[in-house]
Amino acid sequence: MTFCHVPATPIGVPETVKRDLIDLAVLGGRPEFTEPVLVGRPSVGDRARFLERADRALVRRRLSNGGPMVREFEHRVAGRAGVRHCVATCNATLALQLVARAAGLRDDVVMPAMTFPATPHALSWIGIRPVFCDVDPVTGNLTAGTVRAALTPRTSGIVAVHLWGRPCAVPELEELAARRGIPLLVDAAHAFGVSRRGRPVGGSGAAEVFSFHATKVVTTFEGGAVVTDDGELAARVRAMASFGMDSSGQVRGPGINAKMSEAAAAMGLTSLEAFDVTVAGNLANYRTYARELAGLPGIRLMRHDEDERGNFQYVVIAVEGGAGLDRDTLATVLAAENVVTRAYFSPGCHRLPPYDGPGTPSLPHTDRLAGQVLALPTGPDVGVHDVRRICAVIRLAVAHAAALTTRPVVAPAG
Ligand SMILES: *Cc1c(COP(=O)(O)O)cnc(C)c1O
Repeated sequence: MTFCHVPATPIGVPETVKRDLIDLAVLGGRPEFTEPVLVGRPSVGDRARFLERADRALVRRRLSNGGPMVREFEHRVAGRAGVRHCVATCNATLALQLVARAAGLRDDVVMPAMTFPATPHALSWIGIRPVFCDVDPVTGNLTAGTVRAALTPRTSGIVAVHLWGRPCAVPELEELAARRGIPLLVDAAHAFGVSRRGRPVGGSGAAEVFSFHATKVVTTFEGGAVVTDDGELAARVRAMASFGMDSSGQVRGPGINAKMSEAAAAMGLTSLEAFDVTVAGNLANYRTYARELAGLPGIRLMRHDEDERGNFQYVVIAVEGGAGLDRDTLATVLAAENVVTRAYFSPGCHRLPPYDGPGTPSLPHTDRLAGQVLALPTGPDVGVHDVRRICAVIRLAVAHAAALTTRPVVAPAG
């Protein structure tokens, strides 16, 4: 067999030592990275600032129940999201449950299957049936058209998702929800700090939910928030998050414990201070991926619209037919180089228990995308130089796609 060289590397790119098929670690070459390069390392900000804040909470002996740092965090999050109200919670899953209850969802709720399983799980856990809709084949986001196809008389609401932090078609979804007289909620877990045409994510529908999990662009270790302009809804959510108690401590209705702790808010405030720097780093990585993968057959980067200010926390490609190798083969090749990717989100939630089975809807666009998508490393611990090396491996793999798909490749660890 002959080994052809990959096309010349673009100008300004340090030449990788990997030039031939046999240089790939999956075929016995030395891995490109000695340490794993990961998707989404936490953005913890200035550790000294965090420790100082945590110490203040200890000195105050104020550890939870809406302490001053939680209030400050809520204020900052509401400001970024351009909304009047923010209720911080212990995670986004409970935030989704609270707002679903507070908005009166029941029976069936339409949502995309192309999402993290937390979206359907949160509602299913409180007795609401997720009804999955398909997504746009290019963006992976739900649309008014795909939602409309899934509506029935039992539909009590819509849960939209800003997939990978790219805002979904909110105006048309709001119009559809209004015409149907049902609430629109948005799982904005990926989309903190994002805006489109100057309109920040946060004020859409009845309410939006952010996640501040360790893997998200701003972290509170574990955490979430409900943001809304609806004061009554916010008050209901706030009471429900604290055993159904109002601000005077009177129980006014059903509730659970979904409060954010002061330690979490200390992390959140510190992580928020790093937000602009984190996003600038993510943007540089995204642009490098876009440049280095441009024109590569079958490798389609999920693009952010020009009128959009993203947080660029997720860099996702779709490995399409023209690449000559499938997503899992590429992931295996990258894993051997110590490049840890994630098949986000695969399979679609409609293929996962307890939602799979006889009644599973047919969602062709979701199924196709779920077989193609791959989230690539970015975040505070990944620099543009790393991205260039990752892209060089991808180019090499695509150039030798035929050989890679006919040879047995080693399965990735984990
Ligand atoms: C991370 C995530 C969640 C869950 O957030 P937690 O804070 O971990 O509960 C929900 N929806 C989506 C789309 C997510 O990515």
